[in-house]
Amino acid sequence: MAGAIGALMLMYAKHKDRMRTTWVACEGWHRKRSTFSFVRAEHLLVITDFDATLTTGDSQQCHDLCAESPIMSTDFRDKFAPLLDWAANPDIDGVEWWDRAHALMVRYGCPKRQLIPRIVREAKMTPRPGSLELLKRLEELDIPVLIVSAGLSDIIEEFLRQHGALSENVTVCSNRLNYAADMSPKTVSPEPPITSFTKQYAYASSSSFFEQHAARKTLLVLGDSVTDVDASKNVPYDHCLSVGFLNSRPDGMAHAKAFDAVVLGDHGSLLPVADLIDEVAPPIGILRQFSAKANMGSRSNSLSAFSPPPAAD
Ligand SMILES: [Mg+2]
Repeated sequence: MAGAIGALMLMYAKHKDRMRTTWVACEGWHRKRSTFSFVRAEHLLVITDFDATLTTGDSQQCHDLCAESPIMSTDFRDKFAPLLDWAANPDIDGVEWWDRAHALMVRYGCPKRQLIPRIVREAKMTPRPGSLELLKRLEELDIPVLIVSAGLSDIIEEFLRQHGALSENVTVCSNRLNYAADMSPKTVSPEPPITSFTKQYAYASSSSFFEQHAARKTLLVLGDSVTDVDASKNVPYDHCLSVGFLNSRPDGMAHAKAFDAVVLGDHGSLLPVADLIDEVAPPIGILRQFSAKANMGSRSNSLSAFSPPPAAD
């Protein structure tokens, strides 16, 4: 019995540790946040970025891990390297970057389809603390998740698959490699590509997704770039709450303007977002029950990271 209690306390301590996060409430947060008390799971839709949002801020990103993987040909890596050198090539930006990157992938036939699982497995791409728990909770509640990413669908889906998170409620709206019989990418769709600068086209690009879920009028939008909120730009909604991830950027002013709340740090946790979901649909898990007891019957402590500002470590 004592051992079981000890194990439970250890689980709780680990849970609390992963909950540690520093965040900032921005203008309008409290007003918008209060509307969540009236939202039900069947009203909710989640639109999220992938790179450095569902993964940690210091993770390799979709295109990087294809271009940097040692199992890619040296020729391909050499030709791609300038695209990853932002300091030396400040002019290669905007939509042109994606055109050049995808042209190289097609020209050199990289990455071969059969290598994608290994590339992802060996990459420095780590789930952000709390992201897998959040995705699990959204799956349990059958809340649709649209991942709008300027990365690569093939990499995102493989990453989610390897982490047991590629569930039926998840739809990926990103750039997809179209393979031929020789397992080499021949084209990349859509054309024009989905980039950080064109996320507002997600509504049109994912029209069947939005048609299917047209009755869901509460949006939860997550992203680490200020343009990530554009993914929800043309989507009709009654309520929208956005959470940004500043990662290691030194200046958070743009994020404070773009998002309703901003989580700080490359490893800032997503579990407070999961707590928002818990508020919409309270869970029945043992850990949560224990958490509630430890908080003397109140859920306020587990929600504190996203309640009164500014919560801190
Ligand atoms: Mg991102």
